[in-house]
Formats: sequence, C-alpha cells, structure tokens
Amino acid sequence: MRAMVLDAARQPLRPADLPDPEPGPGQVLVSVSACGVCRTDLHVVDGELGSALTHERALPGRATSNRSPKLPLVLGHEVVGTVAGGGERFAPGERIGIPWLGWTDGECRYCLSGRENLCDRALFTGYDLDGGYAELAVADERFCVAIPPGYPDEQAAPLLCAGLIGYRALTMTGDAERLGLYGFGASAHIVCQVARHEGRRVFAFTRDGDDAAQSLALELGAEWAGDSAGPAPEPLDAAIVFAPVGELVPAALRVSAKGAVVVCAGIHMSDIPSFPYELLWGERAVRSVANLTRRDAEEFMALAPHVPVRTEVETSPLAEANEVLARLRAGEVRGAAVLRVSER
Ligand SMILES: [Zn+2]
Ligand SMILES: [Zn+2]
Repeated sequence: MRAMVLDAARQPLRPADLPDPEPGPGQVLVSVSACGVCRTDLHVVDGELGSALTHERALPGRATSNRSPKLPLVLGHEVVGTVAGGGERFAPGERIGIPWLGWTDGECRYCLSGRENLCDRALFTGYDLDGGYAELAVADERFCVAIPPGYPDEQAAPLLCAGLIGYRALTMTGDAERLGLYGFGASAHIVCQVARHEGRRVFAFTRDGDDAAQSLALELGAEWAGDSAGPAPEPLDAAIVFAPVGELVPAALRVSAKGAVVVCAGIHMSDIPSFPYELLWGERAVRSVANLTRRDAEEFMALAPHVPVRTEVETSPLAEANEVLARLRAGEVRGAAVLRVSER
C-alpha cells in the first residue's frame, strides 16, 4: 500500500510502499479514503509529545514510561474509510472512522471510572499505532465509530478529532453563554457551529490581522472576531484555547467574568507565563482537556448532523502531506486540511 511515513522527528514524511496490514483478533481492516491533518500531527513530527503522553506506569515491553512515537510511523488520526475485512461489529463496505483513541486497557482506575481518555496505558492512532496517511489501516473495532450519512468522506474526516475534542472541550464550559474561542482553525470552526446551535454567543480571537480566520468565524455565527491580545467586547463566561500558545491563558483570564473557565484544548502548548493571582480570583478556573472517550465519539457523531455541522475543508492528495503540514504550520489553512487517500 502507498503511505507517507515518519522515520524520525523533524524530518519530512517519506513516500513509501508498505506491506498491506493484516487485521488481528478484534481488529478491522479499513480501506482509507480520506484522512484529516491535525495540529497534533505537527507536534508529532516536531517531537514535542514525549511528556504529554508519558504513561504513569510503564508499558509491557517498554523500558520507561516516557514514550516517543512508534517509528517508523504512519501519521493520521482522523481516518475515514470503508471496512475491507476483519472484525464483527461493522459490515463489509460500511463507512467508519478511526479516531485518536486507539486502545485502552479497560482495567485501570481511569477506565473503570468512565475516564478512558486518561487511561494509563492508552494507545493512540497515528502515534503508537499506524494511522491514516496510507491506503489501508487496521484498528480495534471497539474504538471505531460509524460515520453519519450525508457527510462526504473528506468533510467527515475533521469531525474525528477537531470535532470530537472540540466537543469534549465545549462540554467542559458548562452552560457558559458568552464563549471565547482562541485560535480559529479546524476545531474552533466546528465548535462555533455547535455552540451557536446550543444558543451560546461566540467571540473569536485570532492572530492580529488574520482576516481569513476572522471572516470564517463571522460566517459561522460568531458575533465578534478580533485580535487575541486586544480587548473583548464584553466579559467571557468561558474560553477554549485551541492555539498552542501559553500567553493566551492569562489573556483569556483577563477578559473573563467571575466564575469563568478557561479550557486548554491542545495536546501541547508553549509555557504559560506567570500572571497575577487576581486574574484567577473570583472562582475562575483553568483546565485542560485530554484525548476523548468512545462516549464522546458516539455523542458527537449523533449531534453533528442535527446542528448540522458543516466542515470547511482544503483537500490535497496524500502525496502532498508534507506541503499540507507546512501550510498548517504557517496558519494558511482555512478550516481543516484533509488528505484524499483513495477514490472510491
Ligand atoms: Zn485504562
Ligand atoms: Zn487530532
């Protein structure tokens, strides 16, 4: 099968012909049609996730709990395709998605308390397990999710991480009415639509002068879009920080009302600068959101067609994965970037 392979951090992906993967027990073989390009993929390429994904207990067969990605690695955890064999849960030809959460042990204190996103031994697609920058992928069928009808493959792909993790972050804001979104990329452009559907008011904070992102935010129902370092038109009841920029945490607190929560939704962020306690005082909170659960996936995939969430995607052939990653890094992608892997 054709694939784009990461051999080592900070190197371009290499086009390769790999042997077709074979599904093991409980695994499904997926013929990949589209795969989203997530900011997390950039962090993997940049070798930035060793500490974020550190296990609290060592994995069997691994000497330390501080882990790097599997290498060589097929990136990609917003995988859409059809079932081409293996497993029992899905019918052959059924359209399914493979998300970031690829496996959990089902027995740790997190798994046993409905928090499998925090599993001590979780394995992640496109990090520990080969992902969707390839014509075929295998996945544990228990962690796959059916794709709602009505979404073309390429428009469904961003739902699988940008959508799911954005949705999980949104649920962490409770019933906040005035919602700030920091960084208006793949996740925010989906969350904005869900938040409007729920009757919230959305304020989009972008890099100074990012007219493309600001106009997309206004088109999708944000009532205001402006510079993340500047003032907000009114205090926020919650903020979600998607951009991997630590300075945005005190910036969001500064424009937040009492009782507001600032949710950090990215897997990696630059250091958060120190800030005066008065920014946190008044029962404001700062928290992160990590990974997703299967329940998040089922809930969000049921909700998306009702909103209805429409994803704005830029599509490129698989072979151009390096160019797409560079465009994402430069902030040039409007909405979400998706690789077209095979035509069906
Ligand atoms: Zn567990
Ligand atoms: Zn992702």
